[in-house]
Amino acid sequence: PYTGPSAAEILSKRKEYLSPAMFYLYNKPLNVVDGRMQYLFDENGRRYLDAFGGIATVCCGHCHPHVVDAIVNQTKRLQHSTILYLNHAIADLAEALANKLPGNLKVVFFTNSGTEANELAIMMARLYTGCHDIISLRNAYHGNAAGTMGATAQSNWKFNVIQSGVHHAINPDPYRGVFGSEGEKYAKDIQDLIQFGTSGNIAGFISEAIQGVGGIIELAPGYLPAAYNIIKKAGGLCIADEVQGGFGRTGSHFWGFENHGVVPDIVTMAKGIGNGIPLGAVITTPEIAEVLTRRNYFNTFGGNPVCTAAGLAVLNVIEKEKLQDNAFVVGSYLKERLIALKDKHDLIGDVRGRGLMLGVELVTDHELKTPAKLETLHLLDQMKEIGVLVGKGGFYGNVFRITPPLCFTTEDADFLVDAMDYTMSKM
Ligand code: PMP
Repeated sequence: PYTGPSAAEILSKRKEYLSPAMFYLYNKPLNVVDGRMQYLFDENGRRYLDAFGGIATVCCGHCHPHVVDAIVNQTKRLQHSTILYLNHAIADLAEALANKLPGNLKVVFFTNSGTEANELAIMMARLYTGCHDIISLRNAYHGNAAGTMGATAQSNWKFNVIQSGVHHAINPDPYRGVFGSEGEKYAKDIQDLIQFGTSGNIAGFISEAIQGVGGIIELAPGYLPAAYNIIKKAGGLCIADEVQGGFGRTGSHFWGFENHGVVPDIVTMAKGIGNGIPLGAVITTPEIAEVLTRRNYFNTFGGNPVCTAAGLAVLNVIEKEKLQDNAFVVGSYLKERLIALKDKHDLIGDVRGRGLMLGVELVTDHELKTPAKLETLHLLDQMKEIGVLVGKGGFYGNVFRITPPLCFTTEDADFLVDAMDYTMSKM
């Protein structure tokens, strides 16, 4: 049993010693002390079904024994920086990752986070093209350092610091967007941005395949191929941010971009890649990767032996346990059940997503799509009381984000939907 400090003691330490900017979910924050596969346990040993672990990087399941073993064994043997000597772990994971990508995407650079990966990707696009302008989508989240905060396009994540050279295109959001599901119509805005907001040439375009922080928004079909065409014509590189949608989460494909039939020039990843261990990566072609040789470039801990040993274990587990297939089967089942729930509860305006990356948008008026912000918060708390953890997202904070570990079962899906149904019925 857990014998550490109570939730109240931790809260008081946080108040005194940690940044006041740190936030937590729930009115009464949960003190989680143990994790096992799709479950989290609080200080009293109470079990919760974790349907939001995906955001916190877990794809194989919390403390998956194979990943834990890989981390422990490598920690006992050696942990060091990657910048001075040879070690097999970084090379092994690079090879395994490159084998997962199409075309000439064969060169890997490791980082410690998604922000770092996107910072590097954007810089490489700028160096390779000799241009500065980047286009990202409104409602996107790509990180919170100087460059990536520019690409992030939601005011609540943007500070008033210089974020130069990023233009934000109209979001191809099938639910709230002006053109509904007609992806190609939205892409025209990229052409306009290039024509009227830049010199005519750009460094690149960055987007997720399904916006995570933005509220599980699947880009309208046809958008990405049209967008990529326009970007390429303007000399830009296409960057796919797979921080949330990668590693089999969308079920039908290993990478989110594959759902749209495009091949990017640069792919970035983090979160799921390490199953909870800080690890990120940028993967590109040999030609583009060459730009970093113009100066010295390194990342002290990027690709360190312990994190890359974990990453290799993650890939093995995804394959051995057929987690991508599971994401497809369980995700499709869960989505069907959520769609049925929409017919029952007026509060649900939209159900969307793929595989185990699903969103439920709550509105108080179907015509006006008025965000049901308070209701979302209330239901989130009530579901926690029943033992189910889901996340929230979207600009208005009115979307349930369902991104569980990929070992989620149909029984888990039933429990989640029943909990949602029950709490909504009681409102
Ligand atoms: N890209 C996407 C799509 C993300 O969701 C996030 C984090 N929410 C990031 C990048 C940044 O990753 P990190 O927090 O690891 O820097």
